[in-house]
Amino acid sequence: MNNAHNLSRIDSKFLMSAPNLKQCPAPEKTEVAFAGRSNAGKSSVLNQVTGNKSLAKVSKTPGRTQMINFFEANIGGLLVDLPGYGYAKSSKSAQIQWQKAVNEYLSFRESLQGLILVMDIRHPDQDYDREILNWADESGLDVHILLNKSDKLGNNKKLDTLGKTRLKYSAYKNTSIQTFSALKGKGREELINKIAGWLKRH
Ligand code: GDP
Repeated sequence: MNNAHNLSRIDSKFLMSAPNLKQCPAPEKTEVAFAGRSNAGKSSVLNQVTGNKSLAKVSKTPGRTQMINFFEANIGGLLVDLPGYGYAKSSKSAQIQWQKAVNEYLSFRESLQGLILVMDIRHPDQDYDREILNWADESGLDVHILLNKSDKLGNNKKLDTLGKTRLKYSAYKNTSIQTFSALKGKGREELINKIAGWLKRH
């Protein structure tokens, strides 16, 4: 009874930050990365997955928000927090740097097994979400989409958005999707099973 189904969280600790692909650690361990628009709830999702509030704090530390942050998971492998995109206050040059780092990472990182893409269920399918899905598709990378903040919608609206978004993305072959609430922890088991499954691949 020690399989992924029984994991209630994935304990993780901070390893390092890198400003670009070149400075990432050697690609020796399986990785699962997290991406999303700023404010979609990526840090809150990381808190839910790891049960560790200080972990997402690392990713919010000034100077680290534009970095690729690596965390070692106790079940083996790394969780990777990619810089959030579309933060209104960040400069044009910071956004260009973000695009370059994330594009390179998603396109060329050999150890990357899967990507968790966090969206706000009230505003899914933004331009940059599409770009990420396109990069992932071109690289044959598996993506699991979280429609986060599901607690903000009633059940009907939630299921309606899930259905519509699934349909919109049906052309992306390597993509799965679920509703999630980082606030309530709803959907956590499905998410943790997905991540643990990816981390176990070699
Ligand atoms: P990030 O910028 O993507 O890392 O987003 P944060 O994790 O900092 O979350 C942004 C805001 O959304 C914060 O005020 C969170 O408390 C809130 N938030 C995140 N996830 C949820 C959720 O599932 N439900 C609700 N109601 N609020 C959430």
